[in-house]
Amino acid sequence: MMRKLALLLLLCPLMMMAESKQVQSPDGRMKVKVSVEGGIATYAVVYDGEEMLCPSRLGLQSNIGDFTKGLTFVSAKESKVEKHYDMTRTKASHVDFMANQLDVTLADAKNHQIIVTFVVANNDIAFRYTLLRQEEDNPKCAVVMSEASSFLFPEGTTTFLSPQSLPMVGWMQTKPSYEEEYHADVPMATKSQQGQGYVFPALFHIGDKGWALVCETGVTSAYAGCHLSDYTEETGYTIAYPQEGENNGNGTATAGIPVPGTTPWRTITIGKTLQPIVETTISYDVLEPLYEPSKQYQPGRYTWSWLIWQDESINYADQVQFIDLAAAMGFEYCLVDNWWDERIGRDKIAELSKYAQSKGVHLMLWYSSNGYENNAPQTPRQCMSTSIAREKEMRWMQSIGVVGIKVDFFGGDKQQTMQLYEDILSDANRYGLQVIFHGCTLPRGWERLYPNFVASEAVLASENVFFNEESAFREPYDLTLHPFCRNATATMDWGGIIMNRHISRDNKSRHTRKTTDVFEMASGLIMQTSIQCVAMQPNNLQELPQVELDFLKALPTTWEETRYIDGYPGKFVVMARRHNDQWYIAGLNAEKEAKTLTLNLPMFAGKTVNYYVDNAEGYAELKTLKVDKKGQAKITIKPNGGIILK
Ligand code: CA
Repeated sequence: MMRKLALLLLLCPLMMMAESKQVQSPDGRMKVKVSVEGGIATYAVVYDGEEMLCPSRLGLQSNIGDFTKGLTFVSAKESKVEKHYDMTRTKASHVDFMANQLDVTLADAKNHQIIVTFVVANNDIAFRYTLLRQEEDNPKCAVVMSEASSFLFPEGTTTFLSPQSLPMVGWMQTKPSYEEEYHADVPMATKSQQGQGYVFPALFHIGDKGWALVCETGVTSAYAGCHLSDYTEETGYTIAYPQEGENNGNGTATAGIPVPGTTPWRTITIGKTLQPIVETTISYDVLEPLYEPSKQYQPGRYTWSWLIWQDESINYADQVQFIDLAAAMGFEYCLVDNWWDERIGRDKIAELSKYAQSKGVHLMLWYSSNGYENNAPQTPRQCMSTSIAREKEMRWMQSIGVVGIKVDFFGGDKQQTMQLYEDILSDANRYGLQVIFHGCTLPRGWERLYPNFVASEAVLASENVFFNEESAFREPYDLTLHPFCRNATATMDWGGIIMNRHISRDNKSRHTRKTTDVFEMASGLIMQTSIQCVAMQPNNLQELPQVELDFLKALPTTWEETRYIDGYPGKFVVMARRHNDQWYIAGLNAEKEAKTLTLNLPMFAGKTVNYYVDNAEGYAELKTLKVDKKGQAKITIKPNGGIILK
């Protein structure tokens, strides 16, 4: 009888009763509750007493155990996280990170254990799984096939999401490449365009309660890139792994990890307003650099012939014009795009690089990532796809003074591609090369992990403004949405502040740009990347007012701090960024009506500041603006226009 009772006592709490453990943010406003009930593990989030995330699933399925059901609560441990760190190439140069950590150990039906770790800061949550070695004879490695982790938002939440593309579609079968459109304020139940869910980051408007931004970080060669599934009423959005068809079907869509080993972090940023979304550094807070920089990498600006002059500009004479343009503007870099090996040739590229350096400009060169993942024909190909090829190529680049590469057309989000990204970055570091990726995945904490990583495209970018007028019309919407979403989680190579009035080489033909000049200038402050593309053209030197040229010449690209001032995704945005001691306020308006706002600018309280506004012709005019003692200033932004205060 005693034995039976003891067994019953032992089994009952484990099998029947809900067990839960709560962890709260250092300021006490956010509470995360992890529960196990009926063998299912969940977490829920409350902010200021309001439910922001309903009980959402936890767990994963691996070949060493199914941690999605039949789970029991084993133990929980709480600890504090305090980190003070500096970084470069992001929205902030110093972060003081404080959080509370909860490690919950769960066991499956066979008593295999897994730890779920929650790091909870004032407005950020990061969680991940650690697979443990189970017994002496158990495997020391695991394949993770799927994840149950989900995000179930309260009813009435609307979404700002970009669909996951099908694999091997689009131009030369180069998708997926995170180049689908974001759709604003869409009901949760709406099906994704391709039925494949949505890419990170994902922004949610939880009615009057606030906002949530969902992403992942710390995805390296050690894991696959994930995305979100379509919505279901029961579980919300669930973590989804790459599609089998990515990389032309080559390679596994699952993730392989050593045991003990961890998954990447899934992150949720939560706020009553959009401020924590714009200002979050959670992509970096839970990571450490993976290697030391081989030299001090320089931020800056680059000119780029390809955006408007296209493939025809890949010749020696045109590239000289863009080097001269960079030199005239005091820009540090010039990017030579695809086909340079065939159309200019390696010997002439060496000569061009020497010419550039004589003007104080350094070249960056375009490469295909391929390989065998898609049919993109542009050369050079197969120079970045193996370590043997990279060593040869990068040594040559270093010998002729090339300082950066742009690598394009990646195969997808499978772990093998994440390995390729990391290998390119670490090899490039040995040869002092900074790296920009295009036709690629979202960088997930890479600015912090890889000291020579600059930025990724991973956005429906400026090239589309060239390709079609519809995208030119959409540019203000895109650039007022990304500060709250894509660019809030990672640097973004939008590919250009465009100053031509017509999107053509002669600046007379084809469609017009739909934005004002101050909009474009301000976009250089809104879009965050440490090497900004200023896609002005040689003719702009003669055409633009001196006030615009002077502003662009002095455009900073690195930031000590970033602050949200006002905005609504896809409608308008006002942000503040500080470079050294100088604050810059930039505003963009994507709406059809002029927007008059009273801004709170404590950094300018009682000061008279420079004020760039659009004139009737869409050119910039430099005025001054008095900010009152309380730090308030009234401004008006024209439709598709911008403002800058400094
Ligand atoms: Ca692209």
